Amino acid sequence: MPATSSVAPPPDDFARRQALLAHERLCALYGAPFRFFSTKAPMSELISAVLSHRTRNADSHRAYQQLTAAFPTWEQVRDAPTEAVEAAISPCTWPEQKAPRIQAILRELTARLDGQLDLQCLAAMPVPEARNWLETLPGVGPKTSAATLLFSSLRLPAMPVDSHHHRVAQRLGLIGPKVGTEASHALLEALLPPGWDAQQVYDHHEALMFHGQKCCYFRSPACRRCVMLDVCPYGQQLTGAGPTEPA
Ligand code: SF4
Repeated sequence: MPATSSVAPPPDDFARRQALLAHERLCALYGAPFRFFSTKAPMSELISAVLSHRTRNADSHRAYQQLTAAFPTWEQVRDAPTEAVEAAISPCTWPEQKAPRIQAILRELTARLDGQLDLQCLAAMPVPEARNWLETLPGVGPKTSAATLLFSSLRLPAMPVDSHHHRVAQRLGLIGPKVGTEASHALLEALLPPGWDAQQVYDHHEALMFHGQKCCYFRSPACRRCVMLDVCPYGQQLTGAGPTEPA
């Protein structure tokens, strides 16, 4: 499967300006800079990201805690009976799929890294290369690769896109209406200034995600109190409000 994070056409000016405006307003609204919520090593963050796929945070956290309590090392997780791993991660969704996937990832990493289950080597790679390297692991897509690089102690500027972030980006016109979450990673990342550091990329992701959680709801977005209404095509269509003339 090709790594979606490496392919992006040049962004148009509207989308680029709109992304920076959203960044400025939403970061101010939600109080950036945001504190990183994780200090996990990249190997742990990768497994945590796999567990979190389509799972509530509390449940994936519990699955991770149970897994690491039952098997204190990644080598033990790799070599355990798959049913035992599945039982340990039972609080997350689809443990029957995630248990064999985690073990396949660990086996593949063991082969690639000469037996060392440690992803610190990614720190020396350019971000696109590190993303592609991760995305050739079994079942690892752009969201998981970005989470591993950004949320872990590596703190590399790769941007994950969750469903809230994706919805807000689509309604603001940063991506087209038919672009799915996976494909949106490369397009949305291409809108950001190339020199942005991990904190700026993290703030951008968190601000758009918070906005999806607190205002731009899946059903009935609260457009009338939204700080983006004057520039949001979707909100203006929904409310009948016209675009505001620039000052
Ligand atoms: S104006 Fe409405 S649709 Fe647009 S970002 Fe705000 S809440 Fe979402």
